[in-house]
Amino acid sequence: MNCARKLQPTCDVTVFEASDGVGGRVRSDRERGYVFDRGFAVFLEAYEESREALDYDALRLRPFQPGALICRDGEQQFVGDPLRRPQDLLPSLRAPVGSLADKLRAGVLRTACLALDAARIRDGAWTRSSTNARDFLSDKVGVGPLLLDAFFEPFFRGVFLSRLDEQDPRVWLLAFRALSAAPTSLPEDGIGAVAEQLAASVDVRLNAKVDAVREGSIDVNGETLAFDRVVVAVDGPALPKLLPDIRPVQARASTCVYFSLDAKDLPTQLPIILLIPGDDGPLNNVCFPSNVQASYAPKGRALCSATIIDSLTDVPDDVETAARSHLAELFPDANVGSWTFERLYRVPFAQPRQQLDKPDLEGSPTYSDSIYVCGDHLTDPSLNGALASGRRAAAACLKSLRVRGGATPPLRDYATKFEAPSSVSYAPIGVVRSPYVERHGTPRQATVGDDAATGVIALNPEFRGSLKSLDGFDYVWVLAHMHLQTGKLRRFQIKPPRGEERHGVFATRAPHRPSPISLSALKLVAVDEEKLELTVQGLDLLDGTPVLDVKPYVPYYDAFPDARAGWVDELDDEPDG
Ligand SMILES: Cc1cc2nc3c(=O)[nH]c(=O)nc-3n(C[C@H](O)[C@H](O)[C@H](O)COP(=O)(O)OP(=O)(O)OC[C@H]3O[C@@H](n4cnc5c(N)ncnc54)[C@H](O)[C@@H]3O)c2cc1C
Repeated sequence: MNCARKLQPTCDVTVFEASDGVGGRVRSDRERGYVFDRGFAVFLEAYEESREALDYDALRLRPFQPGALICRDGEQQFVGDPLRRPQDLLPSLRAPVGSLADKLRAGVLRTACLALDAARIRDGAWTRSSTNARDFLSDKVGVGPLLLDAFFEPFFRGVFLSRLDEQDPRVWLLAFRALSAAPTSLPEDGIGAVAEQLAASVDVRLNAKVDAVREGSIDVNGETLAFDRVVVAVDGPALPKLLPDIRPVQARASTCVYFSLDAKDLPTQLPIILLIPGDDGPLNNVCFPSNVQASYAPKGRALCSATIIDSLTDVPDDVETAARSHLAELFPDANVGSWTFERLYRVPFAQPRQQLDKPDLEGSPTYSDSIYVCGDHLTDPSLNGALASGRRAAAACLKSLRVRGGATPPLRDYATKFEAPSSVSYAPIGVVRSPYVERHGTPRQATVGDDAATGVIALNPEFRGSLKSLDGFDYVWVLAHMHLQTGKLRRFQIKPPRGEERHGVFATRAPHRPSPISLSALKLVAVDEEKLELTVQGLDLLDGTPVLDVKPYVPYYDAFPDARAGWVDELDDEPDG
């Protein structure tokens, strides 16, 4: 969608979406006053691509409380972010989830990473010696296993659906920096509102599955459609079906179970993420999104979202029952048995598996001369990665149009991009060499007859080459600036030399005009490409008149012998030239 958005001002863009709605993995269902994101997802306000692409105000974001509640042994231990909420300092230091030194080191990293440049993180400048995120945190930052296992593991398993030692340290650091830099939020209408906003200005065809992609065309729902450029923006698993020589992407899967409950029965009122350390499963993290955004549940009710990371846990056959009993263990004082099961989302491809040996985090969007690729499988698996990838595909596509088209393609919606200028100025391309040196006696129209004057249109030297192929035409249009017409025209009705009546200036060809531009159809006698001169016959222009333009006269377009000529047709006298 971001790619389409970026191409839109320049090209005609159509998005073909296989499913019945926009958003892909960023979709929400809204029903009976509940908002169900299709899998628990959060919006990181710091993402630089989102900031560029989205109107945050329109999303009506509400923030999570920074940090997490760690659910262990029937207790909840709070880890906060004292840099954002100083009141969280003491409880965070006291929480039995790591030594004081570990917490201080994590705090230093949290502060220091804000000063890191995203491009330098991507090129590995800060994580070079670490093979994965766990290595980086333990060896480079010095975080001990207690804090790693209690906080960092479950938190970032939730983010990347894989263990810390399966996460690229650069990708991890980018996410940690974004989480530290600005609030993590939920949009009022659900995470799907993000994609809906991006799609609002784009021509999207829904239920339009693309079955084949070729240079210059695609097959959609049994029809072949031609396009100059094709951008394949499908998810990783769908990609090799369209571009078979692309390697399949391995998936990280997740499952999300939603329960609704009476708001009075909430185990916590905090707008915060609850983490479940350990490998026993099935749940990794829990959240009550209606504590963050009241719009996620109707008045008096609350929504609980519980996430299983399929890639790390054996997903039970009866997900609802297993999730409910795990929730009952976590919240022994809540009557979880009374919670209403609402929905289950199984997402077999939630994110591409991270490749730890990938030298470049940003894969090339160019597949061939006219086919481009984008999506989170090319970069870091996040909304930010997907947006950035779309932006890069659009840039590559536009560049190819410029290079191969020889010029910047015209803006499609130029009328809204540019105001009409209130004045224009042109440099003459040449000058008229004419036998007429004073206005008196110069014919009022270009004429061709026995007495038609011959003259020359002499072009300026910089227009060498511009006369090629003109010699095959019998006539040329010459536009010139009537440089002796200097006074400002105050009356817009004119009495022409023929007839008695006045006419509006634009119903006449009088030389006194608001823009004193002349238009002459002249017979082309000779073209001298070397001297840059046109010999023309039928001149009605004074010697020294600056020439603005020359165009070939094409009878097919320019001659309308049967056209009416208004008041001129009604004149009785003969034209006097
Ligand atoms: C449960 C879950 C939670 C997540 N949480 C977060 C989070 O908190 N923060 C974050 O930053 N990221 C999160 N992500 C990751 C993020 O959603 C993805 O990285 C991002 O949406 C990828 O976008 P994409 O455009 O590359 O692919 P997609 O969103 O998958 O879009 C691909 C589109 O292509 C369409 N398509 C496929 N085949 C065809 C075809 N043949 N013809 C036409 N259309 C086709 C699909 O229907 C789909 O709409 C989460 C993902 C999931 C699943």
